[in-house]
Amino acid sequence: MKNKAYIVMGVSGCGKTTIGKMLAEILKIDFFDGDAFHPLMNIEKMAAGIPLTDEDRYSWLLDINKQIKESFTKGRSVVFACSALKESYRRILVQQIEDTVVWIYLKGDVDTIGLRLKNREGHFMPSTLLQSQFEILEEPSTAIDIDITLDTNTIIHTIVKRLTKSDFGLVGLGVMGKSLARNFSRNGVILSLYNRFVAGSEEQVAEKCIAEYEELQTAKGFEDLKFFAESLATPRKIFLMIKAGEETDTFINELVPYLNAGDVIIDGGNSYYGDTKRRIEFLKSCGIHFIGAGVSGGEEGALKGPSIMPSGAPEAYKLVGEYLTLIAAKDKHGDACCSYIGKDGSGHFVKMVHNGIEYAEMQLIAEVYAYLRYAMKMQPPQISAVFSEWNKGELSSYLLGITAALVVKKEGNDWLIDLILDKAGNKGTGNWATIAASELGQPATLITSALFARYVSTVKEKMLIHLEQSSVKDIPVIVLDEIKSAYQLARIANHQQGFMLIHTASDTFKWNLNYSEIARVWTNGCIIRSVFMEELISVLKKKQNIFEDEKIVSITKAYKPALKNFVISALQYDLSIPSHLAALDQLNTLTGNYATANIIQAQRDYFGAHTYQKVGDASGKFYHTEW
Ligand code: NDP
Repeated sequence: MKNKAYIVMGVSGCGKTTIGKMLAEILKIDFFDGDAFHPLMNIEKMAAGIPLTDEDRYSWLLDINKQIKESFTKGRSVVFACSALKESYRRILVQQIEDTVVWIYLKGDVDTIGLRLKNREGHFMPSTLLQSQFEILEEPSTAIDIDITLDTNTIIHTIVKRLTKSDFGLVGLGVMGKSLARNFSRNGVILSLYNRFVAGSEEQVAEKCIAEYEELQTAKGFEDLKFFAESLATPRKIFLMIKAGEETDTFINELVPYLNAGDVIIDGGNSYYGDTKRRIEFLKSCGIHFIGAGVSGGEEGALKGPSIMPSGAPEAYKLVGEYLTLIAAKDKHGDACCSYIGKDGSGHFVKMVHNGIEYAEMQLIAEVYAYLRYAMKMQPPQISAVFSEWNKGELSSYLLGITAALVVKKEGNDWLIDLILDKAGNKGTGNWATIAASELGQPATLITSALFARYVSTVKEKMLIHLEQSSVKDIPVIVLDEIKSAYQLARIANHQQGFMLIHTASDTFKWNLNYSEIARVWTNGCIIRSVFMEELISVLKKKQNIFEDEKIVSITKAYKPALKNFVISALQYDLSIPSHLAALDQLNTLTGNYATANIIQAQRDYFGAHTYQKVGDASGKFYHTEW
């Protein structure tokens, strides 16, 4: 290993000898006191209260430099206590050993140090010389700065922490980043944390975060990218948990100058999969690896174990995989819910579809809630009981569980749910999934219906026509078991579309994805974890289209009448149920003998000579008719 010289510097009385000795003891290396290298002439001058000149110091500095080199030739690292007040002195001290010197600057003000010197006995340096030292002091720009008012143990602890290189860097200490940092730390990973500095609003974010959480005590905080990068062991592994989009590009551009070939950046944000592919290619040209990692689980998942979907070059994943699997949730066999997904932006694509499935899963539950509340006139505690009961069996899912809990939350005398505005937001991943499905020509009608239901909720108040609700008093409601079957079948339809979207992308982009493994990664830590997802692990091992699985086929046949009854009944109650409707429509379209596409194709041929193919013509020939 390369020898190092740790030079503890600062004005006389700052404590460099004490701290230097302690540091040498901890690092088990030799200690030298710079004062012992002064020629007699210098000592006499100082004792007489005469400040030293640059000429006086020249040979002294060279002697220290010589001692460091001698130690290195014996294979010894050293700690030196030396005032090294000026930049020009420091240049002499590091001659020919520039790369090996680490500066530790003990920083204090003239009053604090003056008091210390007054109380110091048996030292040749009178306290009157202190002022002249402060006058020539040029603070170093690249040293580990230490506040000397801290107690010695804290000073040593801080120095050692700053000297040790961190295993892993994390950027962005928002909701997700903070929890991920705690998760990494709990798993023994030594972290360097970085958050941007914005004067007045974002100051010392990393340091404050470390001070707030006990488990982050081994972490180092930075708001200077250079020092952050320097604090990391190479090849550096840096996890970004920042705002997706342009902000991520800008940040990468700022970070890259501090990195070396072979370093790895992991983007854990909800980035667009096309951006991930572009970033992989751009960074490859600088020799830097880039991994796009979909992360699901929200704040709690990030803290206790998220589901992680990384993609990029396999050799890059090899460098970071052990860290990602360490913090990931574990499936029921104890394996990490993190798996190398594939090349390019496939990880972010899979995460995007995850979110799309999530949109539809949420919407389906919301539609069942609407039916129970407004058609069946159930109160929230009854609805919660129904959801809790369903959540014990094959319908069990994280989203159903949290809905059972949230519907009975009260604020004062009201159900909180009744106080929440009927307006749903989104952050764009459902939109991307819908666009991707359109681009790939793959139906994802449940995702789209759920996304558009959110959009409709935001424009509702601008609706100009106010229709009377139909009279609903004589419409019979259907039984709970039928609602349950309808919901179960709609969920199957949603998962079928989601996995088919992934399958189409895999074929189109030549990703060679493992669908069963993706289902396994989604069995814990993520928002769409469910008992059904567990079942899909084995289904997807055999079939790419889950509608080809025997058990799913028999459920579909058995539950379709229930889904139809639910949809009809809900529509009679004027309820908006777009995702159940989309599920039913998908089944009608896929299983009906006759669809609508023949009319569409004839219309296309009529006005645009777009041609059509004929029933029973195996040649696939295209025909045109002069209509
Ligand atoms: P927050 O808004 O809580 O945090 C965003 C973080 O990004 C903050 O640290 C913020 O710094 C930083 N940031 C914003 N703009 C910039 C910039 N221009 N340069 C550098 N840093 C910047 O968001 P989340 O923690 O919720 O989300 C972070 C990422 O994770 C996003 O991409 C999000 O889509 C994704 N994600 C979120 C999930 C969730 O459930 N919340 C789940 C999975 C992924 P500052 O504090 O200084 O503003």
